[in-house]
Amino acid sequence: MASQVPNAGGQPLASAESRHNEWLSPGGAAYDFRSDVRTSPTPAMLEAITYASLLDGIQDSDPSTKKLEEHVAAMAGHEAGLWVVSGTMGNLVSLRTLLTQPPYSIICDERAHFLNNETGGVFAFSGAVPQPVRPSNGKYLTLEDILPHVKLGHGEKVHAVPTRVIALENTLRGMVMPLAETRRICEFAHANEIKVHLDGARLWEAVTATGSSLADYASLFDTVTMCFSKGLGAPAGAIVLGNKATIRHARWVRQSIGGGIRQPGLLTEAAFVAVRDTFEGKKLAKTHEVASRIGRHWEACGANLLYPTETNMVWLDFTGQQFGLADVIAKGKEKGITLNRDRLVIHYQISEAAVQILMDVMTELTRS
Ligand SMILES: *Cc1c(COP(=O)(O)O)cnc(C)c1O
Repeated sequence: MASQVPNAGGQPLASAESRHNEWLSPGGAAYDFRSDVRTSPTPAMLEAITYASLLDGIQDSDPSTKKLEEHVAAMAGHEAGLWVVSGTMGNLVSLRTLLTQPPYSIICDERAHFLNNETGGVFAFSGAVPQPVRPSNGKYLTLEDILPHVKLGHGEKVHAVPTRVIALENTLRGMVMPLAETRRICEFAHANEIKVHLDGARLWEAVTATGSSLADYASLFDTVTMCFSKGLGAPAGAIVLGNKATIRHARWVRQSIGGGIRQPGLLTEAAFVAVRDTFEGKKLAKTHEVASRIGRHWEACGANLLYPTETNMVWLDFTGQQFGLADVIAKGKEKGITLNRDRLVIHYQISEAAVQILMDVMTELTRS
């Protein structure tokens, strides 16, 4: 029996348009605030898949994948790029590539995605010791937060594990790390023979919010990962950026964890469209406006936000309210929108109708 869930498949594809229209129906991406990974591939992406190169992408990148890698590397001020199947794989490949000879440790924000949400893969595959740091401003790490944790690796203190990489994340919980602070940390690291990695899964959002370019941020780092499947809306994939030697080695690491894909063009053509239509097509700024409007509405209802709304995320604080997260989820579900936590993520396919429902739910609950 055919499923009633939008995009559940199980039937021949009538047309890209009709498939795409499924996300406009309640229950589809247009009504889903759980994450920006809930976007649905557009007709343009589905069409791009049909003209993808069908060549092998393991030893060298196939033409479709090469086009994407070169385009994004150029935009981000790096020599080369390597497509990987996920942001998780991108962080693993990047960090494994930067770390050469143990003992070594990685300094990161204690909330870092690769520390908390990637099943420990980076540490399992590299043997690195994590050095988590809490940002004193509650938003992003500063050089002053990092300095007391740095172990310079000159070998004189044999008990300490030397810091070989500082890994930053931007955006983190939807908040932007300012360019000036990013530059200070990277300059300190490089002056002390420490490598720097940027988990820029949502760097697209940070540069949209600040008006900086991708290159302003990305070129400061030895390696960078960026996701195509979050706010840009591609079905899968991420990229690792670095210089040619780094990317050559990264291809080896990718292969060692089974990340080589035979015909990646089917996915990379869709990702190319996502970069072109969503990022270069400037669709992200609108999502920040919507997020800000929702955040302001929540505050106008007399409630607080856990974090400021700087990009596409709204963080709800329930302290002091007569209702909780479960009530928002239940009332939202009743009215046709999908939420799952205190974090609301706005993506470019969220409909105005869904935003209205969400704001009405907020009004109703804070009033009662
Ligand atoms: C989503 C995300 C990742 C991992 O990306 P996947 O494609 O889901 O594996 C890594 N870092 C950050 C900051 C992310 O938000």
